[in-house]
Amino acid sequence: MRIRANRNVCIGSGNCVLVAADLFDQDDDAVVVLLTDTPSAAREDAAREAVDRCPSGALSMDEQ
Ligand code: SF4
Repeated sequence: MRIRANRNVCIGSGNCVLVAADLFDQDDDAVVVLLTDTPSAAREDAAREAVDRCPSGALSMDEQ
């Protein structure tokens, strides 16, 4: 799995950080910062949940 974060689309809601603070952070302007684009197998469900809960469509993933 590979996660992608489009910082130009992020609206800074913070949902992704609430779901997976080990995968996502926010900068001083609340814009998402991807901490890793390749989550461990144990964190793939959390990554999927974060993508699902992103209200702006800034997050996406490639399952390969
Ligand atoms: S959930 Fe989406 S809009 Fe909210 S901070 Fe994360 S990437 Fe940005």
